[in-house]
Amino acid sequence: MQSERPRPAATAPPPRPHSPLISPNTVSQVNRARVLQALYDVGPLSRADLARLTEVSRATIGAIVQPMIDSEMLAEGDPQPSSAAGGKPSRPLWFSPNSPPIAAVHLLPGHVETALVSAGGTILTTARREYPADTRDTDLVVDAVTDALNELFVPNQPAALGVGIAVGGMVNTDTGTIVQVNLAPCLSGLPIGPLIAERTRLPVYVDLHPRVQALGDRWFGQGRGLSTFASLYAGEALGVGLVLGGSVHRGPGGAGGEIGHSIVQIDGLPCHCGQRGCWETIATHRWLRDEAARLNLPSASTLTVGPLARLAAKGHPGAAQLFDQYVDNLAVGITNIQQLLAPGLFILHGDVVAGGEALRGKIERQARQRTAAHPGSPLQIAFSALHDDSTLLGAAGLVLSHSLQLTP
Ligand SMILES: [Zn+2]
Repeated sequence: MQSERPRPAATAPPPRPHSPLISPNTVSQVNRARVLQALYDVGPLSRADLARLTEVSRATIGAIVQPMIDSEMLAEGDPQPSSAAGGKPSRPLWFSPNSPPIAAVHLLPGHVETALVSAGGTILTTARREYPADTRDTDLVVDAVTDALNELFVPNQPAALGVGIAVGGMVNTDTGTIVQVNLAPCLSGLPIGPLIAERTRLPVYVDLHPRVQALGDRWFGQGRGLSTFASLYAGEALGVGLVLGGSVHRGPGGAGGEIGHSIVQIDGLPCHCGQRGCWETIATHRWLRDEAARLNLPSASTLTVGPLARLAAKGHPGAAQLFDQYVDNLAVGITNIQQLLAPGLFILHGDVVAGGEALRGKIERQARQRTAAHPGSPLQIAFSALHDDSTLLGAAGLVLSHSLQLTP
């Protein structure tokens, strides 16, 4: 695609008889977005690298990046030695330490975590507040979020680019309203986005936790530079965020992502959503603990995947059998996602990561056995490299996606 754009002002072309399909201003925004996208996908890059990757001329790259350097969005790194072929030493561009940071929020039942994240993806500071999960006074929730945000904001620092909020429940992404959070009924119907925007006077974006996590992988984790992958949360609940064809998939108003309530057993166990046989009924902590109690495993009522893996490794009776069954139950849902959408790479988050290589390798083998091999989308299971930071980094990615007009 030809992406060259005439320089504005003195070198502007004569008026055309017809309006161009996209205005020079739009082309400029598109080129700027492509430059930023390339930096996020690859890391620090010289102007020459940026020109090659975005397929625009060096001169155009210069015109795009200079205003971003002048406004301290980007900064030039130390000169790198020139290549063996000769040429001037290059100075890689990356996000300036003085660029506006991004405020990130993870709203959970009973508490809120916040962080200030640099445009380059470093968590600068964090804060936390609690609120009664059973309260009917939603002001307490909004106060907790606002307080935890205000603790991050330091006077005389650049204002934050915006606020990204990850919610552990259904959300309307068009209105920034929480639809339903099972473990904190007070949050249902709360227009958290508009309320926090009013309090902070910053742009606020709200999204479902697993999708925000996928954005964390996309901007700052193993999903960098990938157009298609799945980010799966598995632990006390199940959720999936899908990046398909370069964009995070939301569904109308953010209705998608309720993978835990896809039905895997006709007439299976009752689920708290009112259906029977949902994937959640056989692949979350609740199922694991019920089965552990049936098998008389120690500390069954609080069992998580890490201790189960250790019991299995020690040969505790019943533990290996339960571990294998849990892995198989996880693999069933992953297989369904792969059969339908072929994301190929599944990045796992949550307590499931504590299962280690024994769990990762088994899920991969099981899911591969259940799906037909296809060269276009080899199924791979990976653990998130972002650990507990993925949601807060993803909330920052949510702001980047919107405010810099980048995809997804
Ligand atoms: Zn359900």
